[in-house]
Amino acid sequence: MSTTQFPPVFDGHNDTVLSLTRSGRSFFKRSDKGHIDLPRSQEGGLGGGFFAVYIADPSPPQQEGQRLSAEQVLSRYSDESTWPEPMSLEFAQSRALSLLGALIRLEEESRGTAKIVRTAAEIQECMDNGTFAILLHFEGAEPLDTAGDALEVFYAAGVRSLGITHSRRNTFATGVPFKFPSSPDTGAGLTDVGKELVRQCNRRKLMLDLSHITEKGFWDVAAITDAPLVATHSNAHVLSETPRNLTDKQLDAVKESRGMVGLNFHVGFLRSDGKADSDTPLSVMADHLERLVEKTGIDCVGLGSDYDGAMMPDELKDAAGLPKLMSEIQSRGYSDDDMRKIAHGNWVRVLRETWGE
Ligand SMILES: [Zn+2]
Repeated sequence: MSTTQFPPVFDGHNDTVLSLTRSGRSFFKRSDKGHIDLPRSQEGGLGGGFFAVYIADPSPPQQEGQRLSAEQVLSRYSDESTWPEPMSLEFAQSRALSLLGALIRLEEESRGTAKIVRTAAEIQECMDNGTFAILLHFEGAEPLDTAGDALEVFYAAGVRSLGITHSRRNTFATGVPFKFPSSPDTGAGLTDVGKELVRQCNRRKLMLDLSHITEKGFWDVAAITDAPLVATHSNAHVLSETPRNLTDKQLDAVKESRGMVGLNFHVGFLRSDGKADSDTPLSVMADHLERLVEKTGIDCVGLGSDYDGAMMPDELKDAAGLPKLMSEIQSRGYSDDDMRKIAHGNWVRVLRETWGE
């Protein structure tokens, strides 16, 4: 049960499984590394969220065996000309199995304190009874073949959400580079097999996440899909002109489809100067949230932290700092009912409408 005065938060994006496997830290022990573990989540009222399975590109030869820093990763994907060649299906599938295996094992080791959720009703139950909810999400379709077979297997394993591409190119679509300032209209849209993948996800009732895709790709998906349009971890482009954020026109489309935007906590996607400077006040986060609500209405906005994958404002620090953000949001005049929607109610609503259960 949440120990804070706020309703529990269900969050749209984290890279925690990658952080756990790389650092060797335990999800069940409090750490000062990374942003999410169970003790810090319980302290801050984080009730669960989308756990991204992201396949990191093999390191460039000059850094073989070393891990790239967050800054090196951002710069590697800042320009299309420095993007790595698309990885092989075999490499991506074997990495995806490792990360999914780690999450499935985590559920078992939790002895009932954490649960992999497959329906919106299960998420709501977790928010009500304090079980930590893990939604299995792919950030990038690299582990999927074009015949659609692997998607069936991953679905059976519990995967319920897919971002077709990260900020790079694959068989199905192209993502936006991390450059600033830039419109999100940076490159090609869906390929033909990408369009088929959207149809397969609709049939399977698997959620599609539009957070990293180019603007062309966004409109390609919008033209095909029968589901609400969702960007799990993106902000308002008008306040921070990174291509990772959504333009007013995109936000209009989210509203029209009864979709969803999750507020990204990464300072570079919050600040008007686009700088990776952690000395960023929480008021800037509330400004983005207010702008998103102004454009889409109170039913289509939640949180999408990017914990364990991005640079947090110093004041917020990690999952234990969530009440500070919730206070800042509440200070803008939202009611208790609004706060419940922002914390988790809207995610439960959009997933129920997408998954049909
Ligand atoms: Zn991301």
